[in-house]
Amino acid sequence: MNTISEEDIAARLSAKGIRPSVQRMAILKYLAEHKTHPTVDMIYTALSPRIPTLSKTTVYNTVRQFDECGLIQSIQIEDGELRYDADTSDHIHFKCTVCGKVYDIFEHAHVTQEIIPDGFTVQKTQTNLWGVCPNCQNGGPADTHRT
Ligand code: ZN
Ligand code: MN
Repeated sequence: MNTISEEDIAARLSAKGIRPSVQRMAILKYLAEHKTHPTVDMIYTALSPRIPTLSKTTVYNTVRQFDECGLIQSIQIEDGELRYDADTSDHIHFKCTVCGKVYDIFEHAHVTQEIIPDGFTVQKTQTNLWGVCPNCQNGGPADTHRT
């Protein structure tokens, strides 16, 4: 886990015109430091012991606000709920159907404008893959891929 400074987090919020409240800071910091693509529930469970005043509704509203202003991205890889990622660069997500982990794949992550018919302008692309990760295929402890 990379530690990201409070200043960096505050600057990211300010750049989008969002007031850096304690709760917003904590939620964005958690997402920036944990590349696990957590759900609202996962963020809430991780932060509520430290911030007893935090509610699940606040987490939900906050990540939605972050998503709408492009500070983070939401990933539609589950049936019922969104997952969130502070890395907004173009990349593919791979969900392991055995362990449930969502991996980042940075190679060949671009859908080019060339494959889109004339007259259509792409604003957002999202590619999700489902399968079995190397750990679950080998049963081995190797954890050398990016998570
Ligand atoms: Zn797996
Ligand atoms: Mn990702």
